[in-house]
Amino acid sequence: MKFSNRITGLTGGGSDGWDVFYRARAMKAAGEDITELTIGEHDIRTDPSILDAMHAAALAGHTGYSMFNGNISLRERVAKRVAERTGMATTPGNILITPGGQSALFASHNLTCDDGDRALFIDPYYATYPGTIRGVGAKPVAVPAHADRGFQPQAQDIKAVADGAKSLLINSPNNPTGVVYTPETMNGIARACLDHDLWLISDEVYDTQIWQDAHITPRALPDMLERTLVIGSLSKSHAMTGSRIGWIVGPEEAIYHIGNLATHTTYGVAGFIQEAACFALDQGAEFEEMIAAPFRRRRDLVLALLEGQNVVRSIPAQGAMYVMLDIRATGLSGEEFANALLDTHHVAVMPGESFGTSAAGHIRVALTVEDTALEAAMHKLTDLATTLAK
Ligand code: PLP
Repeated sequence: MKFSNRITGLTGGGSDGWDVFYRARAMKAAGEDITELTIGEHDIRTDPSILDAMHAAALAGHTGYSMFNGNISLRERVAKRVAERTGMATTPGNILITPGGQSALFASHNLTCDDGDRALFIDPYYATYPGTIRGVGAKPVAVPAHADRGFQPQAQDIKAVADGAKSLLINSPNNPTGVVYTPETMNGIARACLDHDLWLISDEVYDTQIWQDAHITPRALPDMLERTLVIGSLSKSHAMTGSRIGWIVGPEEAIYHIGNLATHTTYGVAGFIQEAACFALDQGAEFEEMIAAPFRRRRDLVLALLEGQNVVRSIPAQGAMYVMLDIRATGLSGEEFANALLDTHHVAVMPGESFGTSAAGHIRVALTVEDTALEAAMHKLTDLATTLAK
């Protein structure tokens, strides 16, 4: 039988950039002791209090079909949280609950792009972005964010490819770079969207992980409210990756249309997960800070460990659970260095090349192991880099 071009073309063909990760997993399965600094998942599990709330909700009967667009109790809480964090009036009519941020990204591109339309995204990028765009039949177009500009996207680079495009996907705090977009960057992005009539899809799933400077949501910038869709999720903020719970914030009419898509795809999110999400949000900012705290501490640890040498250089690590490191002084590509580190020291990191072309010569370190293991891995990493650079 023949499969659709859309599904067979989803990954774009070739390597998916995760070879080092797969190799590390295979070595681990073969019994080797590997320190994995690869994927963006907490080293703690979902808090037992949230699981208790989930269990109680299931026992109380929240196991039937739930509202396809999200229960009003959860949409109210998300709207309140968004309004408090951004200062923008937001009602439940502006919110659609989705099974995670990834599903929200797919739905947003479905809303904004027709077959063959060009959809822009920033490179370096989160692994699923081009496939998500292809998945709705649109054509992914990368806009480079350059290392020598601190990976801050420049308005002129967006404008250079914006003619005829339908949307621009951005992500701040950023995976993989750990960069938080400056007010100047955000204003430039907004300008480009207004000048070229683009939808802006703003992936803000790391909005509770800010170590330096402030996160600006472009939805709050002048004239952006009606053309911005914000992607949110409890995966990173509440260590609820497996619960698959997120949302889209947007204009009411957009949310109405995406609601129709939900009816024909996900049919909503399990009621007991939504109840657990209500409980999680009710724990407030203190709980979110507790979940983010290990990453803040480990980011400081990594930066301190890099002092006193100048072979491995860090990109301003302002947010998210990653630190991007420039290893170009070793003469190796990110991929070569990551493979060498895995072979010689059994430490797995992601090559920058896994996230597009702009982060070549870099590696991404996920801050997702406990501090002593991270410290030992960082010593091995800098030792290898120093040896290679000689
Ligand atoms: N967006 C970015 C930038 C991510 O890094 C991730 C997950 O790593 C997601 C979206 C997907 O998150 P979720 O678990 O909410 O689907």
